[in-house]
Amino acid sequence: RKVVGILALQGAFVEHQAALEKLAFQYRLEVILVKTPEELARCDALVIPGGESTTIALLARLSGVLDPLREFVRTKPVWGTCAGAILLSQAVENAKKGGQELLGGMSITTARNGWGSQVESFEAALTVDGLQSPDVPFTGVFIRAPVVVKLHPAPEDPPILVVARLSPHLLPPSLASPHHSDEPKIFVALRQGKHFLTTFHPELTDDNRFHEYFIRECVFSQCR
Ligand code: GLN
Repeated sequence: RKVVGILALQGAFVEHQAALEKLAFQYRLEVILVKTPEELARCDALVIPGGESTTIALLARLSGVLDPLREFVRTKPVWGTCAGAILLSQAVENAKKGGQELLGGMSITTARNGWGSQVESFEAALTVDGLQSPDVPFTGVFIRAPVVVKLHPAPEDPPILVVARLSPHLLPPSLASPHHSDEPKIFVALRQGKHFLTTFHPELTDDNRFHEYFIRECVFSQCR
């Protein structure tokens, strides 16, 4: 039995718990909420939910789980959604004054609230080549979401795979550009080795394909 934890300091952790519970029987998972280093130590994999990245990092430091999380990310599968995606990045732009502590894990740079203040939230049909039933689009729910601004894997890092993208014509005007079709900002789900990030919130829809993807590809497969 694999233990999958959900970091439960702040944000949408209950929704991830419900989504993972639906897969628990089939994949023989134990799903637990994680607030302490002891709970983290039980986990084989971790989900970091959406919420507010600065607050999650601050609460993690206060509860003594920040450094154990950094250690965890070095060796175990982790999926970050939205605020969690920021925490999994190596670098962040547009951090709050006072800075943003990160866990790293994925060789990318994200920008907090990167869609611009006029586009706080939106839904968009995503192209999901990397998922089961790729012909069925997935409704991405974006809430003050980060934008992927740069991929910078080092030669020794695992490659970064694009699992879902936003069609360029759905980009808000503030982000549109003539050369957008290969720009990182349309990448909204990425995997690198055991790590996975989505800049949107799959746990707020009934479609469980991203949860299943994380369990199958990152938790059970032997990727580096
Ligand atoms: N804007 C938030 C942050 O910077 C993320 C929003 C979310 O997780 N829905 O942490």
